[in-house]
Amino acid sequence: MLDCAIIGGGPAGLTAGLYTTRGGLANVTMFEKGMPGGQITGSSEIENYPGVTGEITGMDLMMPWPEQCQRFGLKHAMVEVMKVDHNDDGSFTIHKGDGTSEDALSVIIATGSTPKRAGFKGEDELFGKGVSTCATCDGFFYKGKEVAVIGGGDTALEEAVYLSNICSKVYIVHRRETFRAAPNTIKRVMDTENIELILNATPEEVYGDKMGVNGIKINTPEGLLDLQVPGVFTFVGMNVNNDVLKKEDGTFICDVNEAGEVIVNLRMRTSVPGLYAAGDIRIDAPKQVVAAAGDGAVAAVNVIPYVDEVKNSREK
Ligand code: FAD
Ligand code: NAP
Repeated sequence: MLDCAIIGGGPAGLTAGLYTTRGGLANVTMFEKGMPGGQITGSSEIENYPGVTGEITGMDLMMPWPEQCQRFGLKHAMVEVMKVDHNDDGSFTIHKGDGTSEDALSVIIATGSTPKRAGFKGEDELFGKGVSTCATCDGFFYKGKEVAVIGGGDTALEEAVYLSNICSKVYIVHRRETFRAAPNTIKRVMDTENIELILNATPEEVYGDKMGVNGIKINTPEGLLDLQVPGVFTFVGMNVNNDVLKKEDGTFICDVNEAGEVIVNLRMRTSVPGLYAAGDIRIDAPKQVVAAAGDGAVAAVNVIPYVDEVKNSREK
């Protein structure tokens, strides 16, 4: 029986791993389906993690985190978790993608979030063939070429600036006239010569052939615009990864809000004793690395006395 199972190895899960093990829990496993580090490893630049100055990528930031946790005994299982069950005796069963399962006295859910699809025609069919949600991963394919970026948040604008250093021109297609990105990022976009804004505009259809994308048709106030670009990057927000908390009947093992975000209190406790949530998955998450790391620490320091109490009561 694990003292604690941590599901997800992004900033929240890794920090929870550091604090639970360093805080004295002997038997903690972090289940991560990919390489640890989380979604920030796909970011071209992070400039708001406290104490980290200079231009660094998300990958650079996260590189040392797993090693630091392992020094204190965190075990890492590279496997997808399919489902978490809450058992009658208060423990949890972690069902893994390889068909096996493990039991745990407590669980910290830190599965984060995933980019949303914008929902225009052709997006799904051409995903990975010219439609992308990762500029760091795919930007280089469009070196010296023109690309379109869809969205008006921090991710869209930051990644547009990144792409402007590789591509000959970047069109930002946004459905409103004002952006929700940070003022500093908006200024960087405005100051970049090879970024052109297409505002009050919504994508109608991305089109292409078996070689990939050939262009995107956009509804604008002036009529339908046909942008002949080989790359379309969509950054239209995130969905929380809450599937592991779903029961067979589609309801959740703990309370969630209408967006599926896990409801927690200030200790990152969910409605189920022993189940904690941290990072982007929780209600009101500011969706920042520093906040996710903070949540992981808060969850961990509260899990430790919970596990001690359960162990003591089981020994009696
Ligand atoms: P994630 O980072 O999403 O990590 C969750 C982890 O759980 C992933 O590694 C995933 O593989 C794993 N996982 C999910 N489901 C399962 C499962 N079923 N089984 C096993 N493993 C699973 N924030 C900033 O502060 N500054 C920035 O400049 C910034 N830039 C960003 C740029 C981009 C392009 C993006 C996408 C995000 C950016 N963010 C930034 C936001 C930041 O990355 C997130 O807020 C943060 O990573 C959330 O951390 P997390 O640990 O909650 O979740
Ligand atoms: P976001 O803030 O939710 O922005 C999504 C953008 O996409 C919005 O501009 C939205 O338009 C647009 N959009 C949504 N659905 C659309 C659709 N179907 N078609 C066309 N456009 C659509 O998402 P995000 O930029 O990914 O950011 C997610 C979170 O991470 C935010 O909290 C953000 O602050 C944080 N983050 C922070 C940093 C940083 O601190 N540097 C970097 C990246 C992300 P509207 O504006 O009209 O709604």
